[in-house]
Amino acid sequence: MDPVAALREIGYWLERARADTHRIKAYRRAAETLTELSGEQRAAHERAGDWGTLAGIGPKTATIIGQSLAGDVPPYLAELREAGAVPLATGGEQVLAARRGELHMHSTWSDGGSSLEEMAVTAAGLGLEYAAITDHSPRLKVARGLSAARLREQVAYVDDLNAALGDSFRLLRGIEVDILDDGALDQAADLLAELEVVVASVHSKLRMDSESMTHRMVGAIANPRVNVLGHCTGRLVEGERGTRPQSVFDASVVFEACRQFEVAVEINARPERCDPPDDLLELAIDTGCLFALNTDAHAPGQLDFAQYGATRAQRLGLDPDRIINTWPVQELLDWCRVS
Ligand SMILES: [Zn+2]
Ligand SMILES: [Zn+2]
Repeated sequence: MDPVAALREIGYWLERARADTHRIKAYRRAAETLTELSGEQRAAHERAGDWGTLAGIGPKTATIIGQSLAGDVPPYLAELREAGAVPLATGGEQVLAARRGELHMHSTWSDGGSSLEEMAVTAAGLGLEYAAITDHSPRLKVARGLSAARLREQVAYVDDLNAALGDSFRLLRGIEVDILDDGALDQAADLLAELEVVVASVHSKLRMDSESMTHRMVGAIANPRVNVLGHCTGRLVEGERGTRPQSVFDASVVFEACRQFEVAVEINARPERCDPPDDLLELAIDTGCLFALNTDAHAPGQLDFAQYGATRAQRLGLDPDRIINTWPVQELLDWCRVS
């Protein structure tokens, strides 16, 4: 077995199982170290069996490399595969089967943990037909938000990757753009117009009073370049970053604006977000909104978190046809352009 594939797959299963980040990084880093070696260097280490002398490779990852090169599936990987055969959540099978694409994911271009290429390849491997790369906008410095120049570079890179990925999967040019305090978007309008999918989210001043927050969100929703309203309440219900209460806004006004301006309400499937909460999700369903079922994945294994969101959507009786990423790619792109 190829040791890089083995290490990456271990990373995938650990991410999916929400294992400790440091543990995951050890496997991801070891895979990176191996890919950076020349053929000759790799052969020399293989002969010497001294993988542990390389920076970024510890005793555990060295063992995995040795086992892979011996032609076996490393027992640890076999164990993870077996554990991973169990679904993350049940009850969302119909919605999940209907879901064709991902519209919210991050890569190392901003605060994601893996390359854009690996995110795309993993999404394709999960049976998706398309995925939009939606890295952060400039204002979000902690997440290494992309300047206009870097976003332009990424757009060109997406085109190159698509040429390499073949016809059965398409990577879409996108962004998760910050909604500024006054409802404006944190990226130049002409650049946003070049993108295929625009997710707009609030990431700062989450504690604004209800009236200001409602104005702010509706301002963004009314912008013709916005396609999806990301994690609308900003709440955190569990996880490494701790918890955070939901933002306060007039949800009936915000969802009515989403309906009128044809902006899909995101069902953010990340278990620590689980956003919007059930009562708001029900309100958005009753309002007649469209939805986007997204993972907000920051690592390949998190692309499978869609199961969590699918379970919620199905339990609340949401018709999969109202989820825009169950649509074929061309239908989705036509809608994004005119909505
Ligand atoms: Zn976000
Ligand atoms: Zn995000």
